[in-house]
Amino acid sequence: MTATVYTADLTRLDEIQDELYQHLLADPAGRCTTCAETEPCHRRDELGQALVRYGRLPRRRPGFTRAGMRRMGTGSADRPRVG
Ligand SMILES: [Zn+2]
Repeated sequence: MTATVYTADLTRLDEIQDELYQHLLADPAGRCTTCAETEPCHRRDELGQALVRYGRLPRRRPGFTRAGMRRMGTGSADRPRVG
């Protein structure tokens, strides 16, 4: 058995990784912000498995999963953040 990875597969890997990031975000109730399933959602699981099949472990972007959280108690109400 060979483990050749073609260029098309690498492109697909990036797509999988990008989609996976969208399913790493959860709302305060613990639901995926993309598909609204309780995390870890079904799609996140599938995408993670797909990456493993390609021989690549899912990566995380530091701080990315905190993107949906608001900072509380900093007194910066005069600067509404648009996300
Ligand atoms: Zn999801």
